[in-house]
Amino acid sequence: MSDGVSSLPWAAAPAAGNAIALYAKWTPALDVKIAAALQRLRDANIQHGDGLVQSSSLGVEDMVITDLIARTGLPIDIATLDTGRLHAETLALLPRIQARYGFEVQVFKPVADAVIQFVAREGEDAMYRSMELRKACCGLRKLEPLARMLKGRSAWITGLRREQSGARGDVAFDEDDGNSRRKLSPIADWSWAEVWAYVEKHDVPYNPLHDQFMPSIGCAPCTRAIAVGEDFRAGRWWWEDSSKECGLHAKG
Ligand code: SF4
Repeated sequence: MSDGVSSLPWAAAPAAGNAIALYAKWTPALDVKIAAALQRLRDANIQHGDGLVQSSSLGVEDMVITDLIARTGLPIDIATLDTGRLHAETLALLPRIQARYGFEVQVFKPVADAVIQFVAREGEDAMYRSMELRKACCGLRKLEPLARMLKGRSAWITGLRREQSGARGDVAFDEDDGNSRRKLSPIADWSWAEVWAYVEKHDVPYNPLHDQFMPSIGCAPCTRAIAVGEDFRAGRWWWEDSSKECGLHAKG
């Protein structure tokens, strides 16, 4: 865990609260970081054109990027995965994005037959039984629809930040995703405090589950609030001793 995380307010505030009030802190560097992120988006649009898509988790970092895209006025597609196990609060962001920005978010869902067969064979909550079953669930609900989302694309935009976990400590602004595409993370160098300062300043819509100590929000059965001193992604697959990644951002 980074020093930045251990000093964050949730370490001393176990009850639900307002994420902006708890975390937002404008830093002297943030104006420069915003300008740099906007320029990265403009450059990516020039370089990739229709081959570019924002792959949004609908988490707060991705909401910031959607807001930055709206600010540039660039015609960048925005897409998300609906795994069929998301919180209602997460899905409720889709009409909020449309109302706020006029963007229709493209939604990619798993193949229905594959889900039906998996659930019939292994049960609704097979992910708790073994890491193998959890990865199988992520594979059919996330990885396969992501592959369809990225088909024909030359680059995708993510909300990855270096501060999110040790495994993400070396996230680059622009890197090879291992599948002959560029993976772009325009706010890789932002802190959690800066993300929330931006949200506050620009009144960015966000998932209210972030107000309940869920800095990283995935599927409902696989996300819990984090406790005092835990890592950003500790609430994901909390029962596992794993890297807290589902494969969407696997390297190589
Ligand atoms: S996060 Fe959980 S529910 Fe969602 S796809 Fe992975 S194992 Fe399945």
